[in-house]
Amino acid sequence: MASGDMIPENRKKKLDSLFEAFSIISEGTYVYLCDMYYDYSRWSKNLVDTFGLPSEYMYSAGSIWEEHIHPEDRAAYHLGIEEVFNGSSQDHDMQYRARNINGEYDYCTCRGVVIEDEFGQPAYFGGAIRNLGEQSHVDALTGLRNQYGFFEDVQEVIKEKTPSRIIVFGIGKLTEINEVYGYHIGNNILQQFGRYLMEQVGRRGGTYRLDGAKFAVITGIQDIESLKDKYEKLRSHFREGLRANGTFVSLEMNAGTLQLKDFNTDDQTVYACLNFAYDESKINRHGDMVEFHENMNDEGKKQIEKLHMIRNSISQKDKGFFLLYQPVIDAETEELIGAEALLRWENSEYGMIPPDIFIPLLEKDPLFPTLGEWILKTALESAGKVHKLLPDFIVNVNLSYAQIEKPDFVDVVRKVLRETQYPPEKLCLEVTERCRLLDVELLRNVMVSLKAGGVKIALDDFGTGFSSVGLLKDLPFDIIKIDRGFVQKIEDDDKERKLVNHFTEVASTFGADVCVEGIETVGMRDILRKYCVHSFQGYYYSRPIPMEKLLSELEKGPKCFAK
Ligand code: C2E
Ligand code: CA
Ligand code: CA
Repeated sequence: MASGDMIPENRKKKLDSLFEAFSIISEGTYVYLCDMYYDYSRWSKNLVDTFGLPSEYMYSAGSIWEEHIHPEDRAAYHLGIEEVFNGSSQDHDMQYRARNINGEYDYCTCRGVVIEDEFGQPAYFGGAIRNLGEQSHVDALTGLRNQYGFFEDVQEVIKEKTPSRIIVFGIGKLTEINEVYGYHIGNNILQQFGRYLMEQVGRRGGTYRLDGAKFAVITGIQDIESLKDKYEKLRSHFREGLRANGTFVSLEMNAGTLQLKDFNTDDQTVYACLNFAYDESKINRHGDMVEFHENMNDEGKKQIEKLHMIRNSISQKDKGFFLLYQPVIDAETEELIGAEALLRWENSEYGMIPPDIFIPLLEKDPLFPTLGEWILKTALESAGKVHKLLPDFIVNVNLSYAQIEKPDFVDVVRKVLRETQYPPEKLCLEVTERCRLLDVELLRNVMVSLKAGGVKIALDDFGTGFSSVGLLKDLPFDIIKIDRGFVQKIEDDDKERKLVNHFTEVASTFGADVCVEGIETVGMRDILRKYCVHSFQGYYYSRPIPMEKLLSELEKGPKCFAK
């Protein structure tokens, strides 16, 4: 049926107006509409976002969607769609599991009809997809309340000011279990885990399955010690192993918890804090339960409230945020070659808050990409002004791994470059080793697309993670930034000198330039100049400063920051 031609503008307009009409009558569900002649479709934005589809507008949407359908349901789906397109069926009514952006399968029902043109030929195929999990708040696999139910209940607790404790649990390595033993076993494990958790919690609280291998409990029990005891029992129970469809599997767990007694917050902020504690448990504490406040060196209680304020600032068009720029200096000539944009947040009540207090907590937040776009745009607009004085000036912008994960990330970078008319080869994006949490293939695709456009990519904080060298081997970085922590004692410590020298050699082997951060003294500079180091950054040259200050210094010439 599909002609294989590009859809003409008038047909696209017609598709849009029909789509709008369709959306009105199908309120509350996802809608799709396909111009069958061109096999060109428009799908609702929330459907595209929930399932991580490439765009609202798609050619061959049926095949793209098929990739998201559970392998066991795929053949039936394929047949159904084929019948619609070859004219042997006029409607479509199916239930299947479709993979969402978190890699999870949601039960969906899909209803569609074919609309014929005046000659009786199939012209449009349109319908609605209902995500059962989202609507019933029940997880189809375990029968527990799902994440929508969880958020609803957290909102309730906040509204009613009910003192509560929330715990997020996760089964470690479920992806590997699925790969090694298959989905059946993975699903069976999730079911057994959910049942066990519910039995343990009983009437003392609510049990939820969030996404993937994550579960949650909301309870009135406040005492952390007795909670930790209970968690350790649960943990050893699953470590001893359980039998799933005849296979014996031992499970590792992680857990983060938070006590909710300050209600000046919202469900998303609470979840961001819980996730932070959870990641800490997973990455740094081998699965021990981590309480949110324990690991914040800030005056505990206020933390959630502060985060709530910061989240609100993002919603209010990034109010209170601004950027400072720290000069990057050529190691040999000591001329200014670029600057790194560093985020700040300031508020009358809390003063100026440094980024490491809130970025690790917010980077997984659905709001963060909005802020990320603002950062990029602001940095490029400011850096553009430097080019009159220093045409080769490069601005470095930090990325958070959750930004990279968004399907439209590369498009956003391109859009901002276009809008600001900023030359891509004068932009360097910095990713930290936390990006190893992402799929290497995804990261490589993103890097290759950006680099093809001229953008440079740096690996930040090199050496702080355990897989630094592995990352260098797998991914084409232009610049390696060696973390401040490795050079602090370089003047008195021979071991440290050897280590840094080794790092610089490793980086050069992979063809990357080296930037050393945290140069604070002339002695550090002199030692590091003997190694394969291309650029410096540090208080010795300059602290992070406003762009106006950088510009006024630069009036004196490119060596303005040299001492
Ligand atoms: P980073 O990317 O490693 O940035 C360098 C940090 O080291 C900055 O801290 C800078 O002020 C500090 N620094 C530079 N030279 C010296 C020195 O000689 N001595 C000492 N003691 N410190 C030095 P800052 O601005 O507080 O930023 C902390 C971290 O927050 C950054 O570490 C980065 O990971 C994150 N961050 C900052 N801005 C952004 C942003 O726009 N987006 C994202 N995703 N992360 C950001
Ligand atoms: Ca950085
Ligand atoms: Ca760094």
